[in-house]
Order: sequence, then structure tokens, then C-alpha cells
Amino acid sequence: MSVMQNNSEKAKWYLPGVLGGLWITGKHLVGNLLNRKKMMTLNYPEEKYDYSPRFKGNHVLTVKKDGSLRCTACMLCATNCPAECIKIVAAEHNDPTVEKFPIAYEIDILRCVFCGYCEEACPVDAIRLGPEWQTPAVNGGNFIYDINHLAYRPNLKGGIQTHVDDEERHKQGI
Ligand code: SF4
Ligand code: SF4
Repeated sequence: MSVMQNNSEKAKWYLPGVLGGLWITGKHLVGNLLNRKKMMTLNYPEEKYDYSPRFKGNHVLTVKKDGSLRCTACMLCATNCPAECIKIVAAEHNDPTVEKFPIAYEIDILRCVFCGYCEEACPVDAIRLGPEWQTPAVNGGNFIYDINHLAYRPNLKGGIQTHVDDEERHKQGI
């Protein structure tokens, strides 16, 4: 059986599609030029698109009422992260009622795929993905987000409190 195709015959069928695409592009180009106020594009960065609060953007490490980190350094987020971009160093806390806590918590945001698995895996609401999506920086080092950035960057205004308070957690054994 022959598997040869008649390329010239096949190419003929692409032509209506190509012309149709060009027609639509040209129509929008002329339409936008003649009616600039109705143009769908934003003049970024002066104009920004508001995503839903459920948008999974930059990470936040939540804090307790006293402002300390909620994270118990259980490593579940790091274990579940498919990009292996979370690095945690755990330490024992002086207070025996407090479990481990992270003395270092870093996310290499350039490797992150914003899948939200870390948020899903966390048993104590210690990490969330928020609506922020702009991540400009001037060098590579700025893309390693540490505790200071994740929990206390200025726009978090002292930190985002977790929904899970200590009493609720202890009742649930977490
Ligand atoms: S969002 Fe996904 S890839 Fe990014 S740190 Fe969390 S688990 Fe890893
Ligand atoms: S899963 Fe939650 S508590 Fe555990 S290390 Fe990650 S952020 Fe901390």
C-alpha cells in the first residue's frame, strides 16, 4: 500500500484557513485602530488585570496571632512539590507546646509551576497561594523567596493570619 500523499492537493486545502485567519486579524486591526476606546488590550503596566482572589499566584506563609510562623516544618509541602523547589530547615522550639518550626523556608519561584500542591498538602493552613502574580526582579537571587518575603513582605502588612487557631488544631490532633 502506498503511503505517499499528494502534497499540492493537500496544500490547496490550507488556503481557505490561512486566508480566513488573515481576514479575522485584519478585521480586528482595522476595528481597533478606528475604535481605540473599545480595544481589548490593557496598557500594562499602567493598567493591570484584576484576577479572581482564587487565582493561584505568589505564595504566602501564614502567621499565628502573635505574628510567628504557623508552619510546623512537617515537610509535607516539600515532599508533594512536583518541581522540588521548596527547601525547609527545621528546628526544635524552646516552647515544648510548639512543634518543630522552620528556621529556613525557601521557594525557588523560577522552578515553581504554581500547581498549588503545597497548599493542598499543608495540614495547618500554613502556606497559601494568593492573588499576586507579578514577580519582577533584577537578578536570580531575588527569585529565591525566603521567610521574610513569604510571610512578612510589606504588602502583607505584618503577615496573613491562618484560619486554623491553636485550639482548633489541638482538638484535631494536628
Ligand atoms: S505551587 Fe506547586 S510547584 Fe510551586 S511550590 Fe507549591 S507544590 Fe511546588
Ligand atoms: S506542609 Fe505546611 S506545615 Fe508542613 S512544612 Fe509545609 S508549610 Fe509547613
